Amino acid sequence: MLSKSKILLIYTGGTIGMKKDFETGALRAFNFSKLLQRIPELKQLDCDIETISFEKPIDSSNMNPEKWAKIATIIEDNYAIFDGFVVLHGSDTMSYSASALSFMLENLAKPVIFTGSQLPIGDLRTDAKENLITAIQIASLREKGKPVISEVCLYFEYKLYRGNRTTKINAEHFNAFTSPNYPDLVESGVHLKLNSELFWALSSNLQFKVHKNLDNNVAIIKMFPGINEVVLAAILSIPNLKGIILETYGAGNAPTEDWFINLLKEAINKGLHIINVTQCSAGSVNMGQYETSTALKEIGVISGKDITTEAAITKLMHLLGQETSGSEFKNAFETSLRGEMA
Ligand code: ASP
Repeated sequence: MLSKSKILLIYTGGTIGMKKDFETGALRAFNFSKLLQRIPELKQLDCDIETISFEKPIDSSNMNPEKWAKIATIIEDNYAIFDGFVVLHGSDTMSYSASALSFMLENLAKPVIFTGSQLPIGDLRTDAKENLITAIQIASLREKGKPVISEVCLYFEYKLYRGNRTTKINAEHFNAFTSPNYPDLVESGVHLKLNSELFWALSSNLQFKVHKNLDNNVAIIKMFPGINEVVLAAILSIPNLKGIILETYGAGNAPTEDWFINLLKEAINKGLHIINVTQCSAGSVNMGQYETSTALKEIGVISGKDITTEAAITKLMHLLGQETSGSEFKNAFETSLRGEMA
């Protein structure tokens, strides 16, 4: 008989484990192990669950690269022992964390599923139980003794998404996430509908590697009509700045004015990496489609294609952390590493 799947539940914080502060009425992170004892449903699952928690659980607005490294280390230390990992995380920055971890965990052969909730698990109308239980069920799925999912995913409100394709779109609805440029991997209804043809497949038994070095000398600039030369010049001259995500219009378009193109050109010539990502929620950058993006292409702006801003900024930190050389950088960024772009 096949042994039960072993799942490690990693609690980082977030609404799922929060309680109302008596004095202020604000939600804050709480000791999750105590709350878990209050979910008898978990015992009915056909898997063995162990939990590990951040010493100080956080609201995910306090997430940062050091804490991503902490999650990566927990997974690395327990990789051989567990069949799958479920990361409980606040929804606010969950898409950033899922994207970051997707790049940090190379040749992942087991599921890492991020989930959380919009209401605390102790709340009567909570969405936490469904999210948690189904995330664990999906992480436990095995076929011929091998995990069915072998990538970093995000499960929320009846859908499993590729983590680095997601973005948070709603601060109130239970349906808080979307994956605008990649279809859902699993839909949960009466049955779990697995869209297996969309799953990330490892080419062979490649060695699992963890990359914890992220360089956060980066910035995101969102274009808006009226952006001026002084502001852009000031950002581009930040000491030690190494890369920028430029959120452009539509299919990657931006002003054609000389001052704008010249500032970007100078910055690129000095070694700054500039990545063109669309501020539209769906679709792709296609430099050269319009006259308003031709110059960007000519001066060496990198195409983010259909990547989300969350995946772009974390991929940028990851590639900088790998010390990818100047000439290779453009190629490396424009290549899909973990299914984050077309
Ligand atoms: N502020 C919370 C957090 O991201 C929201 C949530 O968990 O949904 O930690």
